[in-house]
Amino acid sequence: MSEAKIQVPEIVAVGEFANLLGVPVAQVITELMKNGVLATINESIDFDTAEIIAEFLGFEIEKISSEKSVKADIDVTSKNLEIRPPVVAVLGHVDHGKTSLLDKIRETDVAGGESGGITQHIGAYQVEVNGRKITFLDTPGHEAFEKMREHGARVTDIAIIIVAADDGPKPQTIEAIKHVKKAGSMMIVAVNKTDKPGADPTRTRQQMMEVGVSPQEWGGDTEFIDISSKTGEGIDKLLETIIALADVTELKADPQVPAQGVVIESRLEAGKGAVATILIQNGTLKVGDAILVGDAYGTVRSMENEHKQKLKEALPSMAVRVSGLKSVPEIAEMMQVFDSEKDARTESQKTKRYSTVRKLGEVKKIDAASLAEDIQKSQRSELSLVVKADVVGSLEAIKESLAKLSNSYVTVKFSAEGVGPISESDLNMAEVSDKIIIGFKSKLSPQIKQAAQTRGIKIINYDVIYELISDVKKVLAEMMPVERIETTVGHLKILAIFKISPKKSVVGGKMEEGEAKKGVWARLKRDGEVIEESEVIGVQKGMNEAPSVVAGEECGIGFGEKIKAEVGDVLEFFTITEKKKEL
Ligand code: GDP
Repeated sequence: MSEAKIQVPEIVAVGEFANLLGVPVAQVITELMKNGVLATINESIDFDTAEIIAEFLGFEIEKISSEKSVKADIDVTSKNLEIRPPVVAVLGHVDHGKTSLLDKIRETDVAGGESGGITQHIGAYQVEVNGRKITFLDTPGHEAFEKMREHGARVTDIAIIIVAADDGPKPQTIEAIKHVKKAGSMMIVAVNKTDKPGADPTRTRQQMMEVGVSPQEWGGDTEFIDISSKTGEGIDKLLETIIALADVTELKADPQVPAQGVVIESRLEAGKGAVATILIQNGTLKVGDAILVGDAYGTVRSMENEHKQKLKEALPSMAVRVSGLKSVPEIAEMMQVFDSEKDARTESQKTKRYSTVRKLGEVKKIDAASLAEDIQKSQRSELSLVVKADVVGSLEAIKESLAKLSNSYVTVKFSAEGVGPISESDLNMAEVSDKIIIGFKSKLSPQIKQAAQTRGIKIINYDVIYELISDVKKVLAEMMPVERIETTVGHLKILAIFKISPKKSVVGGKMEEGEAKKGVWARLKRDGEVIEESEVIGVQKGMNEAPSVVAGEECGIGFGEKIKAEVGDVLEFFTITEKKKEL
């Protein structure tokens, strides 16, 4: 698949970017410099910059969606896995009834009503249906909703696509369908406003089929439920269908491990400081846990649910409003638990430090590291393909070989498969997956070829299975995450503090082992505890700048910021390199 574009994350370290392109780092750095961007191997650039540089170097690149980053890392082999409630989002065109449906469901919740009826908006709520819980995401405002939707499909187990029976699918409906299919979430279609005189649920079904969603009752694979968010008709059936669908997939999480979650809402609140609603994806979050959310850290001071009840613990699939963070994290950022607030803070400083993204002509701060780290830790990335073959035998052989290429980081998924010529419906399926159709000795009409071109879908037809597998393997290799490798290169004991100021600090000492030079990182340690980390901006021997200093030498070490060094502290020097994991 030599014509495939190279997949590049939204934020990528220069070294990693060079790796992806397969060119020397120096060449990338030079090209960046020519474009007015000074960046070192470990600094990150954003996609727009990467695209310009790639073009100069003669490559075509495309963005790996950050959707892939927001998902908890669940150990599927754990003995403590328990069924968790499904997390459901309602998507659809404006005015088709999203808000009305969410309101109606909340009203019908008996268990919620029993809790005193007090509610607060936290971005999600749980209802109980026949003793079973369902978590609904309830993100307000269009902007927040869009943002969650970008990530939504990953946070969401089941998406309800709501479509008004008097209007049919509209652009936002189609967009929502694409998002959901791409992420592989389960889907239910709620045909709404069936109480209206102009409603025609049958026509709505036909129209939905035209956009690639076929009702189960007509032999397709998606449940369609007729509802009215006004009268409440059909809502019970919708809720039961959600539970039934959740049961099929046995959604599980491990409540025994430290919590992982994702921010679904956040703000600064008078008297409480930063508050964030966290949807717990795995583990149990407890009051007193030290957490890091993006680059915001803190200790969970209190947790409340949507009924304003104070909780000590939050279980998988629960959404809780958490206070105790030192700053406000952004929506869709991941939450992790640390052993202590200090550890969370150290990690947060690292995150911030690596997150300087230099954009063409301007210097912009964004949360690069957490994004990059999320992608690294990721959480299986998926390559979603449409596979067609000439006969069943070869289709099975191809699928089997491709499935074997999956590992714990990248997975091959078949959004559609079949034998026979490549058809219009294959194009439709490819459009909502990774836009690649792999054919094996498949027939292809000129019309389909033309349509594929206009719709930006790649059709690659093979005659040799080995070549097919080898090409897919190349794509997967590119999708593998990057490991950050830290290497300790030296130690120094601080014997004197020469200067400490906000823009520059210089400490003096003796190199006990190894080497230190400009550009390496230094970890300041006191009695074995890490105080902070900073980049070395220069080393001196006597009064002069030196290229490096080695064991036994007395020297000065310069930093570009205020550091908290004291005589007697130790500096541990280290370098960071990034390397793609092998397939
Ligand atoms: P959203 O933009 O998707 O959140 O849509 P809303 O929930 O705000 O609904 C848009 C309009 O449609 C409002 O005036 C609702 O009262 C109305 N509406 C929503 N659901 C129904 C329904 O089932 N029947 C009728 N007749 N009107 C509805």
